[in-house]
Amino acid sequence: MEKRDLTPCDLRSDTVTQPTAAMREAGLRAPVGDDVFGDDPTVNALQVRLAGDLGFDAGLFVPSGTMSNLLALMAHCERGDEYLVGADAHTYKYEGGGAAVLGSVQPQPIPHAADGTLPLDALAAAIKPEGDPHFARTRLLALENTWHGRPLPLPYLADAGAFARAHGLGYHLDGARLFNAATACGVPAREIARHFDSVSVCLSKGLGAPVGSVLLGSAALIAKARRWRKVLGGGWRQAGILAAMGQYALDHHVGRLADDHRRAGELAAALRAIPALQVDGAHTNLVFVTVPEGTQQALAEHLRARGIVIAAGRGPRIRLATHLDIDEDGIDRTIAAFRGFFR
Ligand SMILES: *Cc1c(COP(=O)(O)O)cnc(C)c1O
Repeated sequence: MEKRDLTPCDLRSDTVTQPTAAMREAGLRAPVGDDVFGDDPTVNALQVRLAGDLGFDAGLFVPSGTMSNLLALMAHCERGDEYLVGADAHTYKYEGGGAAVLGSVQPQPIPHAADGTLPLDALAAAIKPEGDPHFARTRLLALENTWHGRPLPLPYLADAGAFARAHGLGYHLDGARLFNAATACGVPAREIARHFDSVSVCLSKGLGAPVGSVLLGSAALIAKARRWRKVLGGGWRQAGILAAMGQYALDHHVGRLADDHRRAGELAAALRAIPALQVDGAHTNLVFVTVPEGTQQALAEHLRARGIVIAAGRGPRIRLATHLDIDEDGIDRTIAAFRGFFR
């Protein structure tokens, strides 16, 4: 009982996880060096390992997914170029406009289809005519997988890749939750990553590491990204302590993502049985719940009093994320608390 009070069931995000004791231990033991000099053996090992796993030449360990995506955009595009991106994509909507602000790269947002894909005809229509000085130069197609917790269909990734090549565009994946997508599709992550020229993977989401993302790509692209990382102030020193925790996450926390997905499914199924709620998602670890208007705050308080934390007041839908620190008991308590509130 006491432990429940100390560690509330926090469903706001899969970023709220505490590093496990074994993960912290791995960080403490790690040999380190100055990563700006390329000297940190643990950072280097993480980069080589993930590049190998996902089928790329090289990787770059960086502080956040936002930086990883920005470095990719700045490595693929020059000043005055543009990238095609989902109108609801993280790299467009939730990264502070960084590509435009810091990269002088213009986004061309494209409305998503219901399954999160960007229709190829809409992409084709958005590509600017070559050689006409009125236009930015269209250089890159950026996708996101999972998108709102939904894995993009594998055949679409191949089709969009062929499209990008046919139009001379680079092809970037914001794979913040790449391993969730792979788990849901029942394929190795490499089977998704192989379509792309670059992939950004977050270690601090479902994988449960405290800090860090890795950008994967060709040696030339990663060399460019490394320079921009330094320019942006992301050149860090003995980062191997963090890289070791990321390695630990890759070794021990990929297989268990299926548990998060199963629990999200259980949560969604139980909440669907409550008539007042509209429940979507649960393709992976994210469940979206629409509650009757005006009830979000009261619901959040009701749950908070029972040791359950949700992010209310951020729009019509509440996102519930399952993760490393949500067990069966947490799911059961959440279901009981929702039932109690809507009784
Ligand atoms: C969290 C997230 C990012 C950015 O990662 P940070 O480490 O929070 O900067 C990028 N894309 C998607 C889809 C994300 O969910």
